[in-house]
Amino acid sequence: MSELPPEVKLVAVSKFHPVEDILAAYNAGQRRFGENRPQEFAAKVAALPGDIEWHFIGHLQTNKLKLVLPYASLVESIDSLRLLEAVERWGSDRGKVTDVLLELHLGAEETKGGLTEREIEDILMSDSYPHVRFRGLMGMATNTDDVSVVEADFSRIEAFKKNLEERLALPDFSELSIGMSHDWPLAVRHGATIIRVGSAIFGPRSY
Ligand SMILES: *Cc1c(COP(=O)(O)O)cnc(C)c1O
Repeated sequence: MSELPPEVKLVAVSKFHPVEDILAAYNAGQRRFGENRPQEFAAKVAALPGDIEWHFIGHLQTNKLKLVLPYASLVESIDSLRLLEAVERWGSDRGKVTDVLLELHLGAEETKGGLTEREIEDILMSDSYPHVRFRGLMGMATNTDDVSVVEADFSRIEAFKKNLEERLALPDFSELSIGMSHDWPLAVRHGATIIRVGSAIFGPRSY
């Protein structure tokens, strides 16, 4: 990871790895970690130092908000309107604003969640979410070894973000979270400001 430009933020994705492994990375200086399952997220937050910046990067069911929203610096994976509305209600009830990324659906895989470009535009133009701060976009490229397909996904989300910035006044909307262990250098060339790297840091996961 030594070639990472200093302005790009590294999220160390620690899912499925024990607290001791996270602590080792923490002691080496890493302070930003990502988890994708609410229960595991909450347990690790409770067990680890308070100055960690936790990102939630997985599918979040609306009945699990209390495990995640009190502790997450950034919820990267707002993948449905239903979830966004639940986060708004949660914040409205508590007078709390949640920082989020909107997840753009990329690639052809049916199983992957995410919002359409149209849905994202409608959200950003609406004033229905005073307890949500929109910080940018997140995307998961198609899971393939074909670099041209991944590059097309990254190009699309990069262009969409530029287009939104040009047309809408979005003061806080600066982040682009794309790129994982195998494709982060390509993501950085396509404007990534956040990369989410798991196995390249912690080794393979056993699942
Ligand atoms: C697991 C995961 C990553 C990290 O994947 P690696 O290939 O291990 O780097 C990144 N983003 C999300 C959303 C993930 O679930």
